[in-house]
Amino acid sequence: MEAAGRKEEEGGEEYKMKIETINQDKEKNRIQFIVKDSSAYFVNTLRRVFMEEVPVMAIEDVEFRDNSSALYDEMIALRLGLLPITTDLKSYNIPEECTCKGKGCSKCTLKLILSVKKSGIVYAKDLKSKDPKCKPVFPDTPIVKLLKGQSLELEATAVLGKGKEHAKWNPGLFFYQQYPNIEISKEGEQCEEAAIKCPVDVYQFKDGRLNIVNQNNCHLCQACTEACSGIKVKGSDKDFIFTIESWGQLEPKDIVKTGVEEFNKKLDEFTKLLK
Ligand SMILES: [Zn+2]
Repeated sequence: MEAAGRKEEEGGEEYKMKIETINQDKEKNRIQFIVKDSSAYFVNTLRRVFMEEVPVMAIEDVEFRDNSSALYDEMIALRLGLLPITTDLKSYNIPEECTCKGKGCSKCTLKLILSVKKSGIVYAKDLKSKDPKCKPVFPDTPIVKLLKGQSLELEATAVLGKGKEHAKWNPGLFFYQQYPNIEISKEGEQCEEAAIKCPVDVYQFKDGRLNIVNQNNCHLCQACTEACSGIKVKGSDKDFIFTIESWGQLEPKDIVKTGVEEFNKKLDEFTKLLK
């Protein structure tokens, strides 16, 4: 995986960062990778870029035709706004950057219609999207419960937006930790206690010897160093384990790709301003 590395002006050194994928869990929409030879500043910048600069779809306007449910229009609109919607970045523009200049056209807005006239729970799947590629990620999210004789009818408009504007446009959860460097001395090798005390199964004690089997699992809790004086665990200052959990609007690898592009755009803008 390539990441944002910028070549400085002539004579400067090219900044190279190594990335290694360690865990890719399709079902959970989760990806984990190690960033090597970097710094906390840089990894934190990546985290903020992914969180705040990667656009995703969310409902921004709701026009109510009929609402006789127990919830106010505003409450329902708020609930609709927070539904993650699968996002197709290739087909939509951010309204402000669209050719319509933010007025709203088919290239920057998505219409969803809801019309329920029977008692029972109204779910996210009752929202009928005009674009089959963009629909609620979790169809069974309840919106409101209707009693006999009540009804809900509305037209919602979803647009692309960024997490820095509102949390509903946040594409997922992003966090990192220092990579665990584990040192086991001769005396530590005999310590079975470490394998027992470790809550995340980093060690295995086999044939009278302590081995590291899942180093990436370590979250620096120090339970092993408290149990055995022969073990030292220290978080690295230049290697990091980065985790991305998507809310489902985009795949984790698309978040990384778009995030890095947005970051590069920002750096180009910055260079231009400096000149
Ligand atoms: Zn437009």
